[in-house]
Amino acid sequence: MKKILVTLFLAVSLLGYSQQKSIDQKVQELLEKMTLEEKIGQLNQYTGDNTATGPLTINPNKQQEIKEGKIGSMLNVIGYNYTRQYQELAMQSRLKIPLIFGMDVIHGHKTTFPLPLAEAASWDLKLIELSARIAATEAAASGIHWTFAPMVDISRDPRWGRVMEGAGEDTFLGSLIAYARVKGFQGNKIGDINSVMACAKHFAAYGAAVGGRDYNSVDMSDRMLWETYLPPFKATVDAGVATFMNSFNDINGIPATANKYIQRDILKGKWNFNGFVVSDWGSIGEMITHGYCKDDKEAAEKALIAGCDMDMESNTYRFHLAQLINENKVPMSIVDEAVKRILYKKFELGLFDDPFKYCNKERQDKELNNPEHTRIAREIAAKSIVLLKNEKNILPLSKDTKTIAIIGPMVKPKRINHGFWAVDLKDVDSTYIVSQWEGLKNKIGKKTKLLYARGCGVEDTSKAGFQEAIDVANQADVVILSIGERWNMSGEAKSRSNINLPGVQEDLIKELQKTGKPIVVLINAGRPLIFNWTADNMPTIVYTWWLGSEAGNAIADVLFGDYNPSGKLPMTFPREVGQIPIYYNHFNTGRPSINEDKIYKSSYIDLPNTPKFPFGYGLSYTTFKYAELKLSKQKIKLNEDIEVTMTLTNTGKCAGEEVVQLYLQDKFGSVVRPIIELKDFQKVKLEAGESKTLKFVINNDKLSFYNQALEFKSEPGEFNLMIGTSSADIRLRSTFELIH
Ligand code: BGC
Repeated sequence: MKKILVTLFLAVSLLGYSQQKSIDQKVQELLEKMTLEEKIGQLNQYTGDNTATGPLTINPNKQQEIKEGKIGSMLNVIGYNYTRQYQELAMQSRLKIPLIFGMDVIHGHKTTFPLPLAEAASWDLKLIELSARIAATEAAASGIHWTFAPMVDISRDPRWGRVMEGAGEDTFLGSLIAYARVKGFQGNKIGDINSVMACAKHFAAYGAAVGGRDYNSVDMSDRMLWETYLPPFKATVDAGVATFMNSFNDINGIPATANKYIQRDILKGKWNFNGFVVSDWGSIGEMITHGYCKDDKEAAEKALIAGCDMDMESNTYRFHLAQLINENKVPMSIVDEAVKRILYKKFELGLFDDPFKYCNKERQDKELNNPEHTRIAREIAAKSIVLLKNEKNILPLSKDTKTIAIIGPMVKPKRINHGFWAVDLKDVDSTYIVSQWEGLKNKIGKKTKLLYARGCGVEDTSKAGFQEAIDVANQADVVILSIGERWNMSGEAKSRSNINLPGVQEDLIKELQKTGKPIVVLINAGRPLIFNWTADNMPTIVYTWWLGSEAGNAIADVLFGDYNPSGKLPMTFPREVGQIPIYYNHFNTGRPSINEDKIYKSSYIDLPNTPKFPFGYGLSYTTFKYAELKLSKQKIKLNEDIEVTMTLTNTGKCAGEEVVQLYLQDKFGSVVRPIIELKDFQKVKLEAGESKTLKFVINNDKLSFYNQALEFKSEPGEFNLMIGTSSADIRLRSTFELIH
């Protein structure tokens, strides 16, 4: 048996090797036939016309360029029909090298899912992978080969508009989610008809922009880079990600786009990444305004030498590479390497065998109307909702409630629920998006009356609509108030210096509170917002983010208890903007603010250091008891594991899910260590009254960190172990010691 297995293993490995070899050979053979101009063409990416509603009109110059093999990839061309028309032009080129079509499929394609940040609040890796899988299936059925996702930038600054696009502030959670998303997008292998190539972006440290201002500079130590910002990128490489995108920011003075250390030394060198790197939109040309390159030619030289293989929309490679080669400023070997990386992916995608493989009307019609996708979108949307307060147990609402008033600017519009990165598919109407109003209507029985008033717009300064809202509230048994920031106030280039609830929305809450009616506040946003008055005065608050096409149904599921909320915040919610950057896993100072006898402590004189809502926080309609913490050993040697067990009991009256979070603290290190760090978690479903023993394993990796010499190592000493329901609500504690 063993012999058979070994032979089988060898045969499979050889087969894998020969396939690999054969793509390498094909790439090499093709490369040898290519002129310099054709090679440069492969490194060039242009945008198409994704706003076309009628027959596609391709700019005649672009048509000519494609026919001459001067374009390697297009972005923003969607649909089996449009992609086919572009591909037909590429098939008229001398070597018939197919185009790759890229697109920002960030949180769904036609079926949209919660914003990535919201989805991260589910802490449900299987569902996160599944939502990426569905997005890939729909996109691939619309002719797309490549998504510019996942964005895996860690960010500790909710002013930054793009926090909506990532997995939040934590490196451990962010890395697991990054891995899951790549697996979801790419499926079993690149070239599967239901998958797209993923793109880990933005490499690197884009989320650490100074002041939370999009595109801004990043200044950080190498140790911080390695420990906090790079691991999610490494996780995507481990997951087999096909491509990387670099970023707009500079890192310690060198634009990421021309950063050799990041792209060549780390990514292609140390991590042995074998896919290709695309620039961000125009980021090569932007190095002139950065003050790093004097013209496009120099920008092209610096970017390519630093390892940026494809130029998105700058036109710098297209117009300057030939001359740079003639002048021996860029070696031919670097151009060849970049071309090979891109061609390899085109072969893997199967485009040389069938360039129209992804252009199929039947598949597009089928996958863009797949009811299973809708069902899963609803499930993950419900799981992304975070219950922030339920002090008077107003929730879940009774299905016998006679009259419900639903008020606010977010109630009736449909498109808003998509969030920032949804593509407007022009040939698809938007009736499939379930508004919050419709979700509630779908849920309630015939005997319940649903009333509506808008109250105000998101950024209104006028209170003209308040009276109508008050009148409607007065007629109701319960009021649901849906407010927040506009869907496009968070996203690219949507940084805010003030992250309060915009306009007069909080005033509307104050007026409605005077009616004395029970009020459920729903907050829709793409980032942590500040809403102190509401948080302090309203007993029932639900954070709904932007939940995608099934938003209305998912919100209704949670409000009426058909789904018991289980979301936990993936980012810290500050009390005031002045606390930013604020994150749970910070270092201690020599004068921690908890040390009351010191007058000169590390805090503000006008604000506590604690957040409004901490990382990992979120309530349920039931309660959980944490007990019986046991460690298999209290002392371990290097490379020994500790088995940690505990019992979780659902002590409430309904079934529910809890995210049990395991944190560690290395008490003393050769460099200072965070006061607490997430190192494991489990999402567990328990029936009312049910108990379960959970097991965690602490291995050397979980105890290691980057030391001064940037070695990832553990150090002997004492560790605190904390298990809790959030980073600030630790229920079980213990200590152990590592001896080397
Ligand atoms: C964004 C990228 C995006 C690209 C293409 C850029 O402005 O930063 O994340 O993938 O545009 O749309």
